Amino acid sequence: MHEIIRLQSLSKVFPGPVVALDRVSLAIPQGEWMAVMGASGSGKSTLLNLLGCLDRPTEGQILMGGTSIGELTEAQLTGFRRETVGLIFQQFHLVPYLSAVENVMLAQYFHSLADEAEASEALARVGLADRLRHRPAQLSGGEQQRVCIARALVNQPKILLADEPTGNLDEANERVVMDIFQQLHDDGHTIVMVTHDPHVGMLADRRIELEHGRLVTIHTHDLVAAAPRTADQS
Ligand code: ADP
Ligand code: MG
Repeated sequence: MHEIIRLQSLSKVFPGPVVALDRVSLAIPQGEWMAVMGASGSGKSTLLNLLGCLDRPTEGQILMGGTSIGELTEAQLTGFRRETVGLIFQQFHLVPYLSAVENVMLAQYFHSLADEAEASEALARVGLADRLRHRPAQLSGGEQQRVCIARALVNQPKILLADEPTGNLDEANERVVMDIFQQLHDDGHTIVMVTHDPHVGMLADRRIELEHGRLVTIHTHDLVAAAPRTADQS
């Protein structure tokens, strides 16, 4: 299968020094839904931020769709990020005084001209066609996360990066959001999703685990044992 992301001995060291990522090598095929698991502080967000071109590695390389990210200038990197990845965070990062459709248009604004029709269409894709004019405070947590997913989708990125997307959601909203991820996966998006929730992780095609910044082997049967809800459903 065609490979969309390749990490070659990727390391990230913060001043301290803190080795947040330690020589991680990994290939992600196009269309794969991959879960990044591991304890708090194991380097999951650091990995996602590097994939999202929000930060640069200390050592090693990231290839995305054949482009070596490290060779891009800041301006090129910004453009590449807008065209290639959609970012979804645990904290929704919505602008409180803007409506749902305006929040989605804001992502578009950084990319090209704001287009209300495209923003509305992205919101319809996540089941929020009837919430276009609502402000974040008028939306449930699950609905706010769906606005964030719409915002990530509006530039039609190949790769979706999600950092604990269900971390602030109750079980019912978690299911709605994971159903949308399933739909995006079925539509062919590549998804890299950070989660420490075993039964969310079990929805992905594959799981990797970080331990003190290092990639370690993950045993699916341990996860199934820790995720009775998912085990019951399957
Ligand atoms: P996780 O998302 O798995 O909880 P992180 O990737 O956020 O872990 O953090 C990994 C390690 O790197 C932690 O020890 C954290 O304190 C450290 N770290 C993360 N970001 C920074 C930063 N900007 N500056 C300094 N240390 C950081
Ligand atoms: Mg994190």
